[in-house]
Amino acid sequence: MRAITVAPGEAGSVGLEERPDPEPAAGELLVQAVALGVCGTDLEIVEGAYGWAPEGEARLVLGHESLGRVRRAPPGSGFAPGELVVGVVRRPDPVPCPACAGGEWDMCLNGLYTERGIKQRHGYGSELWTLDPRFAVRVDAALGPLGVLLEPASIVAKGWEHIGLIGARTRTWSPRRALVTGAGPVGLLAAMVGRQQGLEVHVLDRVQDGPKPELVRDLGAAYHFGDVSVIGRIAPDIVFECTGAEPVILEAVRHTARDGIVCLAGVSACGRATSFDLGGFNRRTVLGNNVVFGTVNANRSHYEAAARALAAADRDWLARMITRRVPLSRWREAFERRPGDVKVVIDFDGDVG
Ligand code: BGC
Repeated sequence: MRAITVAPGEAGSVGLEERPDPEPAAGELLVQAVALGVCGTDLEIVEGAYGWAPEGEARLVLGHESLGRVRRAPPGSGFAPGELVVGVVRRPDPVPCPACAGGEWDMCLNGLYTERGIKQRHGYGSELWTLDPRFAVRVDAALGPLGVLLEPASIVAKGWEHIGLIGARTRTWSPRRALVTGAGPVGLLAAMVGRQQGLEVHVLDRVQDGPKPELVRDLGAAYHFGDVSVIGRIAPDIVFECTGAEPVILEAVRHTARDGIVCLAGVSACGRATSFDLGGFNRRTVLGNNVVFGTVNANRSHYEAAARALAAADRDWLARMITRRVPLSRWREAFERRPGDVKVVIDFDGDVG
């Protein structure tokens, strides 16, 4: 089978390799890849800035936004050949810490978790992959190829769940206005879920043209571009931050409404000093009862919540989020950043060599 692999830490090392077909271990599913989503983390790995190969190996099979069709399923696995599945990204640490032991590997306490296609575990960027059914999520046939959006949607589902849990600290808080910063796939899905919750949603991004403004407006949300000072005028109750860009984060924490919550979901580059009035931040946060929190990854319950959110969404709108589909034979193009890209997907289906 063909697999997209990379030597983590080495820019320019990504390649398409021939590898032996995987043999499922007892109880595992054998899955034929249908599609693979590409995200910022994959680009970072390709650029040599992130990622770890499995212990004792030099290369990592890339890919964590999966969609596949079950080819073989052992009896009692709960799955049947032909079904569409998505594989969960993270696996519990081997200790396991209390979070991982309780199925909340997304909250791993000791950092020894592994992640398929990212950290010490081969990913889903190969024509065939195996999957422990405990980490397989069934995709509604009606969603079809859009199931490839389940993993990014699971990140969003976790963020919104935690916003809700934090919001439940008071009996009276009833947020009206949410701001999503960054209109990439995670931002757009966050805006979609915000609208599903009946919130007034604003989305701020850098670009003025391309598909993003219309995608946002078609959700019934307001699109803003360029100038971060708009955040002060919005004064959001909730910020779902997906850019990781310091000026955006600074402005967001300065202008969140009282009792408001800022969810940080974008990973920033490190080592760039920014001058920051920590005293002012503390004063506003204390006197405003604000919460600023970070979120990463997702556990099973978030994949399930994501599946419900996608099922309730407009399929045509979801399809428009996928702005480029690249066949496996032209895989390299999927790792190029092109203007107008929102979600780029590598198509495996019908391209099995
Ligand atoms: C993935 C997460 C993962 C994170 C950090 C993201 O791109 O969607 O599942 O936990 O990267 O490695």
